[in-house]
Amino acid sequence: MRIIRTIQALRTWRREQDRRGDVIGYIPTMGALHDGHRSLIQRARKQCATVVVSIFVNPLQFGPTEDYRRYPRDSTGDLSLCREEHADVVFLPQSAGLYPPRFQTSVTVHELSRRWEGERRPTHFQGVATIVTKLLNLVRPGRTFLGQKDYQQFLVIRQLVKDLELDTRVILCPTIRDADGLALSSRNRYLSQSQRRRALLLYQALSAGKAAIAKGARRSPMVERTMAMVINRVLSLEGTDPRSRIDYLACCDAETLEPVTRLQGKVVLVGALRIGSIRLLDNLIVQIRQDETS
Ligand code: AMP
Repeated sequence: MRIIRTIQALRTWRREQDRRGDVIGYIPTMGALHDGHRSLIQRARKQCATVVVSIFVNPLQFGPTEDYRRYPRDSTGDLSLCREEHADVVFLPQSAGLYPPRFQTSVTVHELSRRWEGERRPTHFQGVATIVTKLLNLVRPGRTFLGQKDYQQFLVIRQLVKDLELDTRVILCPTIRDADGLALSSRNRYLSQSQRRRALLLYQALSAGKAAIAKGARRSPMVERTMAMVINRVLSLEGTDPRSRIDYLACCDAETLEPVTRLQGKVVLVGALRIGSIRLLDNLIVQIRQDETS
């Protein structure tokens, strides 16, 4: 496995690959790798001759009050996971290399960035879209593997790839969860045991929403109430950290992320939950067949 730390070395490596003509699979990450990232690397390994993983905690996608400095970093563990999964290249750039002085360009995917995460984190998706555009220009992968865990991010990246004519296929991979359902996330390592139990409420709420739809619920206010109840009946208990609360829980169109009232077609249940100072995301996609819609 080759570790590349500079843009120049990556460009040289990439030019060599042009001569080979192999399909390159690419997994962009912020490190602190876990089995969710592992599943993306494994999927790329199956489908592509060459696998590139990048590890970069992108300062541009963190707001001024967010956890950029505190974000977990574990390059030793990350490199051994990449080695175990037979990645060919790990790109580990420095912030100063990607954002030299007087860097002043950004990429904005307007509509898909507006709601949910974008509303709470106003510069977040611009930061994501800018770094991913740069990384895709450098790596020039045939296929890019992203997790459903960050579904809005997937839609934003898929859109910028389309709009800017980037020559890569964006592949959505399933969310990997712990046995009880909690979506794996680099931030889970901050959770105490009691917080870990509360964090699970997000998945339980989304699952209750999905179950309500399976039983025939077709209006989102009812489904959203069902989901919120699962969380609030626990968070309202005495002794709960007052910072713990629902950020949002909603039913929306799986392509546009616009809220929907009447549930039909492909719907995504999205949620963000604060447990103490930690913010967790999750979502479930629900396909409602035409004949099920009354
Ligand atoms: P991050 O390192 O958090 O920026 O994530 C890098 C990639 O891994 C993104 O495409 C995420 O959606 C994906 N990812 C993170 N957690 C999971 C998970 N639990 N299951 C599947 N993919 C994940």
